[in-house]
Amino acid sequence: MTGYFCLLAFLVILLVELVFYVIVSTTLENQARDRITSIGKEIEADMHYPHGLEASIMRNRREGVNVLLITRDWRVVAPSDYDSERNFYEELKDRPVINAGVGFCEIYRLGKTVNYVSKVDYAGEPHYLLVSYSVAIIYETVTSLQIYLLIIGLTLFLLALLFSMAFSKKLTGGLQVMSDTAVNLARGDYSVQFANADYKEMAQLSDTLNYVRDEVKKSEDFQREILANVTHDLKTPLTMIKAYASMIKEISGDDKLKREKHLQVIIDEADRLTGLVNDVLSVSKLQSNITEIRPKVFNLTDLVYGIIDKFGYLQESQGYSIMVDIDPNTYTRADEEKINQVLYNLIGNAANYTGADKTVFVSLKVSLDGKRVKFSVRDTGKGIPKEALPEIWNRYYRVKENHNRPVKGTGLGLSIVKAILENHAFDFGVESDVGKGSTFWVDFPAVPDTPENI
Ligand code: ADP
Repeated sequence: MTGYFCLLAFLVILLVELVFYVIVSTTLENQARDRITSIGKEIEADMHYPHGLEASIMRNRREGVNVLLITRDWRVVAPSDYDSERNFYEELKDRPVINAGVGFCEIYRLGKTVNYVSKVDYAGEPHYLLVSYSVAIIYETVTSLQIYLLIIGLTLFLLALLFSMAFSKKLTGGLQVMSDTAVNLARGDYSVQFANADYKEMAQLSDTLNYVRDEVKKSEDFQREILANVTHDLKTPLTMIKAYASMIKEISGDDKLKREKHLQVIIDEADRLTGLVNDVLSVSKLQSNITEIRPKVFNLTDLVYGIIDKFGYLQESQGYSIMVDIDPNTYTRADEEKINQVLYNLIGNAANYTGADKTVFVSLKVSLDGKRVKFSVRDTGKGIPKEALPEIWNRYYRVKENHNRPVKGTGLGLSIVKAILENHAFDFGVESDVGKGSTFWVDFPAVPDTPENI
């Protein structure tokens, strides 16, 4: 970072120096050219007056401008004392100005002088007028200004270097602390705190990392909970199966009635195990998104009736009643198998948690505009406390002591329902009155039962 900073500072200084040199030197040079040309023209005009040439030469000499009038064969005509112009004369003597036509004028820069040469008529003869003055002072000024600028530049460069070193130390120091904290987090220390408020972006990064920490912790807690729940849920039926199998072996083997009863317990517990394993599999599949949704149009009414039929055993053997209010021939477009799982879970829950009257109400109604079909299932149970409502859709969440009949649940059912319905982008929800019961609902898109749909 310091390196980039220095490079930038260096480039800026270089650019300033260059721009300064080009602009200042060309401006000064142009000014010098203009000046020498106008002096030359002035002398050309003056020399037509008597003594005008000598007077003009003397005046210009005082201002550091050298003037020579020479014949074509390089004999000096004016000034009469041309010692101070001698150097200029010598220098110009070798220049190819001789071929210039009358009135021609050219400016030569010889060494550090600016020169004007023109062919003039003097006393009826062709002559050369040579004008010159030194620009050394200009170049000295430019050079010394450049040196000042360089000194200023270098000072700025050093300041930039110091500043960038201090700044990057502060920044990388903050990042280093964050990185160390992240390593601790990776090692499983969830008490770490990402804190850095020096810069807005760093503060944002800290917030994000703190959020990540919370989420990672939550997910780990979840996993731990799942493991504990699954092991617990597996253990209970296995213990029961083993206990009843031993009982049959040792006690009830010959007693048909008892044996049947005990075998039924084993079958029920094995069913429970199967249900649990299926639920766990569904959750993990849905979570890892390996189950894709395969939508097709199907008869929702038939599906609901089919599910209610499956609960027939509850009605027959345990006195449950399922009251229905179902519109005929409703169609929707969804993954039938998964919707079956959803509705089965919801009706199963209603039966699980309904009140002493053992009644469950299932309804399937098409909306007035015919565009939606709403499924709902109501029970008369204890209901769900308001604060638990958002939680019940989470994996392994169970409202304490809500179960009516011996619990078959795993706490996974509603999380499966949620995942499936979210994958379909269907609306769903629950309304519950503590003490009165709950209603779970799902809003399906209605598909017209035209032959091409069916
Ligand atoms: P479970 O297998 O325990 O039923 P679910 O995910 O299906 O798991 O439901 C989560 C929790 O939500 C249940 O344990 C229960 O406490 C509560 N719940 C679900 N359905 C109902 C209902 N119809 N009435 C009251 N509570 C319910």
